[in-house]
Amino acid sequence: MYQIPRGTRDFTPEEMQKRLYVEENIRSTFQSFGYREIQTPTFENLELFTAKSGETITDELYSFKDKGGRDLALRPELTAPVIRFYVDKLQMEPKPLKLFYFGNCFRYDRPQKGRYREFRQAGCEIIGVDTPEAYAELIALSYIILEKLGLKNIKLNIGNLKILKTLFNKYKLTEKQQKYILPLIDKSQFEELKEALEDFNLSPNNINEFTEALQSSDVNKINQYIEKNENIEKEILRQKQIMELIREAFDIKNYQFKLGIVRGLDYYTDIVFEIEAPYLGAEKQLCGGGGYELVKLFGGKELPTAGFAIGFDRTILALETEGYQFPISTLDAYVIPVTEEMITKCLQISQQLRKQGFTVDVDLMRRGIGKALKYANSINSKKSIIVGPDEIKQESVTIKDMKTGEQKTVEIKNISEYIK
Ligand code: AMP
Repeated sequence: MYQIPRGTRDFTPEEMQKRLYVEENIRSTFQSFGYREIQTPTFENLELFTAKSGETITDELYSFKDKGGRDLALRPELTAPVIRFYVDKLQMEPKPLKLFYFGNCFRYDRPQKGRYREFRQAGCEIIGVDTPEAYAELIALSYIILEKLGLKNIKLNIGNLKILKTLFNKYKLTEKQQKYILPLIDKSQFEELKEALEDFNLSPNNINEFTEALQSSDVNKINQYIEKNENIEKEILRQKQIMELIREAFDIKNYQFKLGIVRGLDYYTDIVFEIEAPYLGAEKQLCGGGGYELVKLFGGKELPTAGFAIGFDRTILALETEGYQFPISTLDAYVIPVTEEMITKCLQISQQLRKQGFTVDVDLMRRGIGKALKYANSINSKKSIIVGPDEIKQESVTIKDMKTGEQKTVEIKNISEYIK
């Protein structure tokens, strides 16, 4: 017997039903905000992902040489591919450009519940605008997507890397030191962070102040931690405007400002945000996004870019944990031949009904009616159409309602009215 590769999964029809529900629902929400769907390849040139993050990222990638000796990688995320696509072919498009996508991503992670080596993301990028209303709409969209899927207990956290940078500057942290502590801040590892800051010779007072600022959730009080200048005052005002719009225009109240939201990936530079399902434990983060800079690095003309990605797997885990009742797949009718002579008639009736838009299956096993009806039940067929030699002489069939058990003789030409 062959084993499935570590960190990957097979999906049963029932699981696929949930995944398709999530995909269709997310697609319609994106479209309702004027986003248009795109697709990029599953693998890219390796350098697309090392350009910003450096060679060390290859430890986390599925990278390989193809037969022509090219260095390639399965995509770990979709923002870099979408920006490559934008720089290559979409720069002349009218702005803002609102793009969304679905795609499987691959990371050489340590697998655990909610963390896989192949996982599916839904995401979007908005290119060419960074007004407060653009950010408010983007952040609200991520929340509304999850809310529309049926999630009730989710939390939105919004940070700002420009404000955070001024805090770094206040304590004169070098680029290298910043790079070292960002993952610690991202994972809220405050003990390790304190140790690092001690190593960087910050005074105990400064260390306390620094970690307090990271955990502060009041944007009005953030002033007290940073050195004031005109630019930062403007940035704080912008942050407040965005949060006010999220509340006033989109009626989202369940959010908080958190300077410690920094995101794992290297290319974020602006507002950043995350949505979590607190009850999921370590892998509670469902969505992450923010403003970033990649266009210039990829050879395009710099302009504002922002986006977010939502993980399918954790979203489904969260819905299941909240007890959400996913829609179940049903069939309009299951057609059963009583004798072998009825098989052709059954196939004809099924095909006729499919042409009229019904979902119909037909018994292919030449088994007794009892067993066929049991199967019809197991695949959630609403009706069974039993085709027997006596009824067929009158151009009729028997229709059984699988819920009530009620049976009726119906003329073939009228079947569609009875299975609506
Ligand atoms: P990121 O691209 O790391 O910002 O992740 C965006 C979202 O993708 C996260 O919030 C998760 O829901 C999901 N995600 C990231 N990594 C994994 C993984 N290894 N397995 C499953 N979902 C993931």
